Amino acid sequence: MTIKKINFLFCCLCLLLSIETQAVIVNDVTGMTPVQVAAVVQPESTQQVAELIKQTSGSISIAGGKYSMGGQTAIQGALQIDTQKLNHVIAFNPEQKLLTIEAGASWCQVQELIDPYGLSVKIMQSYADFSIGGSLSVNVHGRYFGEGPIILSVEEFKIVLAHGSVVVASPT
Ligand SMILES: Cc1cc2nc3c(=O)[nH]c(=O)nc-3n(C[C@H](O)[C@H](O)[C@H](O)COP(=O)(O)OP(=O)(O)OC[C@H]3O[C@@H](n4cnc5c(N)ncnc54)[C@H](O)[C@@H]3O)c2cc1C
Repeated sequence: MTIKKINFLFCCLCLLLSIETQAVIVNDVTGMTPVQVAAVVQPESTQQVAELIKQTSGSISIAGGKYSMGGQTAIQGALQIDTQKLNHVIAFNPEQKLLTIEAGASWCQVQELIDPYGLSVKIMQSYADFSIGGSLSVNVHGRYFGEGPIILSVEEFKIVLAHGSVVVASPT
């Protein structure tokens, strides 16, 4: 067998292992809610999310930081969209105190970005490992007084609808 063939075989094995790893039992951070899903995908852009939704006919669940405890991030036999690679900064304007970031980013990532500018997150939970999408999805609140839920600090968000179209939602 030539080296070329060995390399080829090795790549194929890697690929098989990686597919095998994706068709697994997923869980939330507690480890108490195992769910067998059909596959896990990690899109890296809104466009990829839209394409995935268009290509999938069955149920889809979404996983952010997976800190919700009770199976909210997985459906038996369904596709799970894991947003951890959907975490790019789209735009940041420190003067306007305005950040556009993808939904899979964590508060920790945001804090590390804005701290050098003397800024902090206006409304978030008491812990920084949650994702922005997981936080917005349940409209979280903080422990401070008078600021209200996270939606009061959101100018607009981009949402991929169930048939795959992308819409920008804002108060107007
Ligand atoms: C230690 C601890 C402290 C907490 N403190 C607070 C607090 O101070 N205030 C408060 O309000 N809550 C608090 N919570 C609750 C926490 O804010 C929620 O559980 C939050 O949803 C967790 O975010 P996540 O990224 O882990 O979301 P996940 O658990 O991953 O997802 C939560 C829900 O949002 C959906 N989802 C995730 N990402 C997206 C997306 N991109 N688009 C659409 N849907 C999505 C999921 O399908 C799921 O239904 C706390 C929880 C813990 C464990």
